[in-house]
Amino acid sequence: MINYSNINGHLVAAGEASLKVSDLSVLRGFAIFDFFLFRKGHPLFLNDYLDRFYRSAQLLHMEVPFSKTDFARQIIQLIERNGQEEGGIRLLLTGGYSPDGYSPAEPNVLILQYPLPAKTWQSSQGIKLMTHTFLREIPEVKTTNYVTGISLLPELKRCGFDDLLFVENGEWIRESVRSNFFLVFDGQRVVTPGNKVLLGVTRKQILHLAGKRYPVEERDVHISELKEAHEAFFTSTIKGVLPVVQIDDQLIGDGKPGLVSAQLYQDFISHVEAYLEEQSRKARQLMEA
Ligand SMILES: *Cc1c(COP(=O)(O)O)cnc(C)c1O
Repeated sequence: MINYSNINGHLVAAGEASLKVSDLSVLRGFAIFDFFLFRKGHPLFLNDYLDRFYRSAQLLHMEVPFSKTDFARQIIQLIERNGQEEGGIRLLLTGGYSPDGYSPAEPNVLILQYPLPAKTWQSSQGIKLMTHTFLREIPEVKTTNYVTGISLLPELKRCGFDDLLFVENGEWIRESVRSNFFLVFDGQRVVTPGNKVLLGVTRKQILHLAGKRYPVEERDVHISELKEAHEAFFTSTIKGVLPVVQIDDQLIGDGKPGLVSAQLYQDFISHVEAYLEEQSRKARQLMEA
């Protein structure tokens, strides 16, 4: 059972966690968030997620009312109090209770815990994407605004696609609704859009791991390059590395998940295991000290 949430630095009963309707997140969609997993009781890559959360806030001229160290301590405390070994954590920073329905007020900060999503790092026969001409409004900021993705869910379903691929001006591939996008050329060259995307924490880990095995490029990717790609895949916190086998009516490579995505998936799993072992070792050292 997840018994607790944290609101503005205080533990509250999870069922009673709430905001007033005058919050700018409700009235104007003004809020940022982040989401990460914890396993074996340890948050994965917490510093990367905290850095991104604080950076999102800064870019919108919002302020997280706690230091990173203090906020990290609250996150660890919540996980300990809920007593689960694994799960997900959502961080949320909202515009606050606005006096006039428009100007930001004192922000509200929430730490919410969830069970581990059922689809976490699931292996897949590959998904099909529908392109959509769109560029997220402030691509570097993880805002709570997913209007485009959510409103197109019925259309996706009707056409038999699994997810969207956002293409700026119909020309430049950027990312998906909740995932970063990679292509593989010549069976080894790993390429991902380098501009106007949310800088995913999984994207960062995969770029690092891919760099140990393959040539890696972060650059603008034109839609016309799809026909030359041997493989495509998504990265995200929940998806890990997820192969993409079709985009609109075009098959990627031979239309099956490729070897590079499979290798990077394995590398990612090993990397997480090594990270968790390191975290456990540090925790034991602290206990013994
Ligand atoms: C969260 C998100 C991603 C993936 O980032 P991760 O840190 O790997 O989960 C990619 N694009 C968008 C728009 C996102 O919101």
